[in-house]
This record gives sequence, structure tokens and C-alpha cells, in this order.
Amino acid sequence: MNEKPETHTKYLIDPEALDALLDRLKGEGFTLIGPRLRDDTIVYDEISCLDDLPKGWTDEHEAGTYRLRKRTDGAYFGYNLGPQSWKQFLHPPKLRLWRAERKDKGFEVIEDDPETIKYAFIGVRPCELAALSIQDRVFMGDQHTESHYANKRRSTFVFAVNCSQAGKTCFCASMGTGPSARSGYDLCLTEIIKSGTHRFVVDAGSDKGRQMLEGLTGDAADDELLTYCVEQSRRAEQSMIRHLDHEKLGDAILRNPEHPRWTQVADRCLCCANCTLVCPTCFCTTVEDTTDLTGDHAERWRQWDSCFNLEFSHISGGSVRTTGKSRYRQWLTHKLATWRLQFGTSGCVGCGRCITWCPVGIDLTEEAAALGSPSTHESVP
Ligand code: SF4
Ligand code: SF4
Repeated sequence: MNEKPETHTKYLIDPEALDALLDRLKGEGFTLIGPRLRDDTIVYDEISCLDDLPKGWTDEHEAGTYRLRKRTDGAYFGYNLGPQSWKQFLHPPKLRLWRAERKDKGFEVIEDDPETIKYAFIGVRPCELAALSIQDRVFMGDQHTESHYANKRRSTFVFAVNCSQAGKTCFCASMGTGPSARSGYDLCLTEIIKSGTHRFVVDAGSDKGRQMLEGLTGDAADDELLTYCVEQSRRAEQSMIRHLDHEKLGDAILRNPEHPRWTQVADRCLCCANCTLVCPTCFCTTVEDTTDLTGDHAERWRQWDSCFNLEFSHISGGSVRTTGKSRYRQWLTHKLATWRLQFGTSGCVGCGRCITWCPVGIDLTEEAAALGSPSTHESVP
């Protein structure tokens, strides 16, 4: 910046300065992960500069539907969310925990050290900041810290971006998680394409973020521009068509384990587990041990699991949740009700991924609303 950034000053930078910022992060040893086009979707993958971003593309969402479309304004962040979340980097789908080698006097167990990679996440949406904070609580918030997650998370640089539009499956406003970022980032961008100019307002949310801005070319954003940012965010919020009254409905779900809606949704649900895999907060895993054919080498792997899998609740004597109804009920009840008792927040941040990527278009906002409506099966509290 031309002047030393102050805590609450927001700066105006152009795309070249943003590229310089990405270069600076690389120079500090960060591996940049950001949005890019792949397989007709926008995924999170390694990037090296602004040119790698899905410039001029947007995504369209509906229950069970996702499409990419070209846009005419050349926006870098003109999409909402792809199928992947940031959890794949901090809580990977598959992770070897240890290996064991046969030695003369038995097996020697060698634990795998946590990875030391330094990530910079570029383009983290406000609902995803909320999801990161939920996963922080799960993996690092109690006396038991998950070292693989914690190691990477503590060195992660979070570069957020405010949403200038809402997808049709988004409902972050009703969950209080978006469409503007409030905390949980090192730097936060608002992309502004207006009067033939393409610029970004950048805001530092931490000392690490402030240090990154030092010496960069840019001016303090004026009041008119800041008002424009607020209005852009308000327009995104007002365009959201889905809503969830999660506190009221979470309580209603707890009182309604035998509501007829559970059977109706189970008739549609394929128990494919897509909703849990795309969800940025779902964290369940299973552990598998393998050996090679010689029997001299064994490994223990952890991998993502889902409460929609029959084996997930397998204990001595079989699975506890043998029907689709019981598995869907488990998922939604945990997400919206018992998660609050366990972690103090809802387990849902309103990103809408489970709606978009459900192959039969099951919409949790619709299901929760139906479950919250009076039922003859409602138990007496
Ligand atoms: S709700 Fe949809 S995505 Fe989730 S398990 Fe059922 S069919 Fe699959
Ligand atoms: S439950 Fe669905 S809408 Fe909520 S955070 Fe998970 S994927 Fe997003």
C-alpha cells in the first residue's frame, strides 16, 4: 500500500496488485489453493496466479442440478460454490496414520508425521469461513487435538472473498454465515466491476494479513465504494430464495422422531452419501488396516465415512441403523439439532451443497420445514 495499513482501513487494488499479492504469498512459502475449472465444475486445486482462476464463468444451482455458464463481465469470483470444500486439504479423504514393518522380534510401528505444508486458501466464501471454524472446534476445540488437522490449519493463510451474488441453493443469510465475511480470515476481497473498471476492495483481518499488504500498490477505499460493497452484499442477501429457521426447526426435529415425513424422504433418498461428502462440516471417518501379500508390511488408513452407509453404525450384532429412514433422520437430526448440544453451533452453514449435489434433489430446507410442521406423532416434550 502507499501508506502503512491500519487495522480497519480497506484498500482498493487492481487485478495486477492482486496477482502481486499471490506472488508474495508464494514467496512466503505458501502453496496456493484456489478455484479453477475442471470437469465442467469449479474445483479447489493448486493455482499459481490469477490467470488460473475461472475468469468469466459462473455456476447455476438448483436441487440436483449444477451447470457452468459464461458471464460477460470477466469476473474472477463470479461463481458461488463448486462440489468441493476446503476440508479435503485439512481433513483429507484418505490418510495413512501409521505403517508397521516385520522385524526379527515382531513388528515395528512407524507413525506418519503430520504434513507440514503451508496452504494459502484463495477465495474462501463466508459460509466456508463458518465451516472452517466449525471444523476447528471439532478437531482442535477440546482437550483432544487432531494433530494432522491442527498442524496444517495453524499455518493456513485464509484469503476470503465476499459473495456478490447468491446461488439458488444458498441460504447462508438465514444461518448468519454470509453473504459477507465478518471474521475468520487473514485477508478478504470484494470484487467490484463497475463503470468499466475491475477492482477489488481488500480488508485485513489479522496481523498476517496486514503484513501481506505492506508496500503493495493501492489506495484506501472511499466511502462511496464501501457503500457500493455493502449494497452489493445486500442485493445478494435479498436474492436468496431458500431459508432455514435452524433453531426452531432443530428443536422441532428433536421432538419428532416418528414424524411421517421421515418415511417420505427415505422413499426418495438413495443413501448415496453425496450430501455428507460435499458438506464442508461433516467429519466422520472409518479406519482400515491392510497388509501386503508377504505379511511383512501393514498399514492403517483413515478415510471419510458417512452416516448414510449401512456399515457406519455396525457394532457387535449388526448395524444399528438398518433403514434409509433411520440414516436420514440421524444425519438431519445431528446437523440441525444435536450438533448444537455437542459443539454449541448448528452443524450446517447454509452453503447449499447437499441440495445441489443430491442426485434426487432432496432439499434439507424443505425437509426441515416439513418436519417442523405439526404432526400427529409429535411427542410430548
Ligand atoms: S439425501 Fe440425497 S445426497 Fe444424501 S444420501 Fe440421500 S440421495 Fe444421497
Ligand atoms: S448440511 Fe448441506 S447446506 Fe448445510 S453445510 Fe452441509 S452441505 Fe452445506
